Order: sequence, then C-alpha cells, then structure tokens
Amino acid sequence: MEIRLNNTMTREKEVFRPLEPGEVKLYTCGLTVYNFAHIGNLRAYVFADTLKRVFLFNGYNVNHVMNITDVGHLTDDEDSGEDKMEEGARREGKTVWEIVDFYTQAFFKDMEKLRILLPTTTCRATRHIDDMIEMIKKIESNGFTYIAGGNVYFDTSKLPDYGKLGRLKLDGEKTRSRVESDPYKRNPFDFVLWFTRYKYENHAMQWDSPWGKGFPGWHIECSAMSSRYLGERFDIHTGGIDHIPVHHTNEIAQSEAAFGHEWVNYWLHSEFLVIGEGEKMSKSLGNFITLQTLADSGYDPLDYRYYLLGAHYRKQLAFSLEALDGARNAMRKLRSRISQFAEDSEGSVEINRELLEEFHEAINDDLNTPRALAVLWKVVDSDKLTSMEKLSLINEFDRVFALGLSEIERESVPEDIQELARDRSKARENRQWDRADELRKAISEKGYEILDERDGYSIRKK
Ligand SMILES: [Zn+2]
Repeated sequence: MEIRLNNTMTREKEVFRPLEPGEVKLYTCGLTVYNFAHIGNLRAYVFADTLKRVFLFNGYNVNHVMNITDVGHLTDDEDSGEDKMEEGARREGKTVWEIVDFYTQAFFKDMEKLRILLPTTTCRATRHIDDMIEMIKKIESNGFTYIAGGNVYFDTSKLPDYGKLGRLKLDGEKTRSRVESDPYKRNPFDFVLWFTRYKYENHAMQWDSPWGKGFPGWHIECSAMSSRYLGERFDIHTGGIDHIPVHHTNEIAQSEAAFGHEWVNYWLHSEFLVIGEGEKMSKSLGNFITLQTLADSGYDPLDYRYYLLGAHYRKQLAFSLEALDGARNAMRKLRSRISQFAEDSEGSVEINRELLEEFHEAINDDLNTPRALAVLWKVVDSDKLTSMEKLSLINEFDRVFALGLSEIERESVPEDIQELARDRSKARENRQWDRADELRKAISEKGYEILDERDGYSIRKK
C-alpha cells in the first residue's frame, strides 16, 4: 500500500518513493540538552517515532539518525545571544559537560517512558567536530563563505534558491533586525559556520580549526552528521515547525552548497503544542511543562502519547489538563476493555482483513492517527467481532500506537477481583447500596479500583 506524506518543500501530499527499495533513511533534529525537554518538544519526537513505526508496519527497514545538540546553539536561533549550554552551566553552577550528560540522560528517560524507539544512531555534535570542519572546508572551497569579525559566515547571496523550504521573503522588517544584530553579516540571512571570536569571553568548548580556535555554528552539525551516517542524499528529514525558517533553511543551504546537488527528498514538520492563548510552549517563555510535571499530577506518560495521537501532527494542539483527562479516561477504558477481552479468550484468532486495511489506510495517509484511533474504538466496541479477533487487531494497531495495549492482555485482572466486581454490579442493579459499597471496599483492599461508566464499569490496578 502506498504511503503518502505531506512534504513541506513542495507543500503537497506526495507518494513516498525511497531512494533504495525497502529502506528509509531518516534524520531527526534532536534536543539541545541544556534543560529538560518540555512536552511541546516531546511532541516532535512522538511524531518522528510514529512516522518510523508506520514505515516498520509497512515492512520497511528504517535507518534513523538523531543528533544531540551540545554546542553552538545560541539563545537566539539566528546566531545572537549566549550559547545555551553555557547558559545551563551558569544557571546550575556546573560545567557544560555535566549539563550535557545530565540532560541527555533525562531526554533518553523521557523517550523510554513515551515508548519512543531508539534511533539506529544517536550522535553528539561535540563528537563530530572533525566532520563539521571538513564540511565547512568543502563549502569554503566551493565559494560560499567569507570571514568577517573572526567568524566564518555562509554567504546566502551565492545561493539563488536560498530560503526555498520556508518560501522566505528576503526583505522586510525581519531583515533590518538581523543586520542590526550582527554588523559583520554581509546579507541579513547569512549565518555563522564557525565562531572564533565570540562575544562572551571564555567559551568553555573550543577546538582547533583552519580558521582558528573556536566552535561550530548550530546548523552545520546536522548537515555533517546526517551525511556521515546516511550519505549525501537521504529520504526524510523531520523536526518541529519552528525549524523551517532558520535551522532547516540553513541546513539545506550548507548541504547543497557542499554537495552541489539536492539533499533531502521529503521534509516533514510537526506543529506546535500551544498553551493558553495560543502561546507556544517554550523554555525561554518560562511556561514549560515536563513529562515529570505530568507524572507528578498522576498522568501516565502513555496518557500523553494517546493525547498526541488524537490530533494530526500537522495541526496545532492546544494543551489543557481537561484535554489530557479525556486521554487518561480513554486509556483507562481501553485497558479495562482489553482485560475483559483477554478474560474471554474464546473464538477465532483470524485477523479481520477489512478492519486491518482500514487502519492501514489511515496511517498511510500522512499519518492520520485520529482516524486510526477511530478504527481502534470501532474494533473495541464492535458486537460482531469475537474477543480474540479484537485482541489480534489491537495487537497489530499497537505496533504503531505504542500505547502498551498489547501488554494489557498479560496483566489482566485476576478472576477473584472480576467476581467481586460482578457481584457489586448485581448489588447495584438490586439497589443494595450498602452491599455494593462493601464490595467496592473489598476490591480496593486487594489493590484494585472500580470505575463506573455509562455502559458498565472498568477495573484497574491502583
Ligand atoms: Zn538539525
């Protein structure tokens, strides 16, 4: 079955055609590890993971590379402000290297909790300085650089299609502010490839280079590391939508200037998670919520994953605890229904092709996860399918959803608890409220909780 993806470069939904049959070469811009990831950042990684799982579902091999940014990303994406790693070190009274290790580990823990599959290769910028220097040398010998104020700049005026990804207008208000922020820039959109003179003294991370001791600009790491692990041309590059105008635009400029040909076939971007009045969640705005914040308020990380899957990745998602409550309730209901199916394991094990196809079509249509979830509920609520048929479909769907649904079967509620729950239900039907209450307590003492619902009840471990 064809996979259609919305390509930011062409603004069209295109049929995916891999460079090599059966294989996808995929690159994802990773986190700048100077602080915890907020749940808005994590949306981009759940999206990339869903994309990867869709390819795996379709039988592809996925070669997935993700970087970890640990140098060169300044507090303003356009080369002004302070290096974020230095900011983190100062904030916490630690060395930059301690900050890198701590927040890289925290990021991996978050990914694990969200059941994000590990990339084939995860690469740290500071371990690929030589690759970056080599690439800057190539760009330089192809005539796309100049040196000013001690720094090596990329000359955007040399590239006729600069800004094609975001269809940037290379004039206007923004242009003026960029010139003011850096007097050495010849053109407002030029950017730094290598810093030797940094406006903040004593930058902790420095390396020798043909242009002097210094450190790389932010964008060059992704061009250098992706080509090291995926080659000079690959299939898909993903990231958050905020990367389009600067980071990804500059990655394209550098790579195409170095290689002399088109670089990436499909660009996929996930939209923002917004909070309050459409405000982007951001560390610098101080409104950031982490996965741990949610856990402290009693939400399972997979409730958050379900919540994200409920919206299409290209739609802005307004975050609220009420909306997350909805996702948590849905997950509880799923767990309880699936445990019931597992109890009643009679019936055919054959997979229902029609419903599997309906799910497959949804995910292959630019990752339409809301539609795929609707198919899941259709299966759960069906009165035609046997419990076994339901379970076999749910297990298949969960290869993409990764909501832990296929495990519920194994940890289903013990029979004695089920019996108490059935007795309680009968007591309620007979309006024996005291008896029903006693049974609820008995269930609770055994470590389970009974939740009444419109069309019955569910049981879950406390
Ligand atoms: Zn990147």
